[in-house]
Amino acid sequence: MVLDAFRTSNKVMAAASRKRYPQFEPKWRPFQLAFLLLNIRGMVEPTHSDRSLVDLLFFPTGGGKTEAYLGLAAFTILLRRLRNPGVESSGLSVLMRYTLRLLTLDQLSRAATLICAMELERQDDVERLGKWPFEIGLWVGQAATPNKMGYKGDRDPNSARSRTIAFQNDDRKPSPIPLENCPWCGTKFTRNSFSLTPTQDQPNDLRIVCANRRCEFVRDNPLPILSVDEPIYRRLPCFLIATVDKFASLPWVGPVARSSGMWIGATGTASTVLVTRPSDRSYQHRCRRPTSSSRTSCTSSPDRSARWWVLRDRH
Ligand SMILES: [Zn+2]
Repeated sequence: MVLDAFRTSNKVMAAASRKRYPQFEPKWRPFQLAFLLLNIRGMVEPTHSDRSLVDLLFFPTGGGKTEAYLGLAAFTILLRRLRNPGVESSGLSVLMRYTLRLLTLDQLSRAATLICAMELERQDDVERLGKWPFEIGLWVGQAATPNKMGYKGDRDPNSARSRTIAFQNDDRKPSPIPLENCPWCGTKFTRNSFSLTPTQDQPNDLRIVCANRRCEFVRDNPLPILSVDEPIYRRLPCFLIATVDKFASLPWVGPVARSSGMWIGATGTASTVLVTRPSDRSYQHRCRRPTSSSRTSCTSSPDRSARWWVLRDRH
């Protein structure tokens, strides 16, 4: 089963790479493959000693850290599904935490392309990978994504409903989500890409489809992207990209607090990857400075049920 998860994670990473960079044949860089292989035992065995460590992945900007952790994220999510294709294995598996200033469209888009590849793989083999879709949640603050769905007459200009209607009326306005193009085929979103369901007056979901008819994510197969807080709390996507301001809301916002209970439950399944791109200060606060080794222990012991990585650019 571990080998199956490894093979399938390589397959979906290659599929995502071919979509984004069709001119190149996908291949791992040696450090990426080493990172993936080094971390497999820690992910597979809930009691492995690696669980008490915070690892530091330290490489120059543009060196391929993102693909390294996306490969491990795919492995982790797939292994969890292969072990139990039932609905109990859905829910949050990978949490990627950003500081606000480091969140980039490109990072969101690359992670979304991988989830698209995984979802198509699941749709090809529902028996093996389960009925619940692989989805990515963008939990990144009101400036980037709407917090609420909204309803007719609420006079909330930041709701998903208001932003979607504004974009549908004039597609020169910003997209209601922080992506401008389909992460699978690259086609720009149009005013027909977004729809409020089940009704425009009382929506509970923002459905996103591609404008390219030849793309796999059209008609009744929407893109597996959750970009509004309310559906994120309800559906608990397997991969969540979050910013620190959202974490600050945990004790204050009821739905977050309730769903965080489920998230803690999810991390308790011992298959969770937590990745953080912290500012220098928050990194020093949490962990000792790395010594000659790139592996460092944490002064405030991390949750042993999850694996933590810190990704740093070498400046
Ligand atoms: Zn598309």
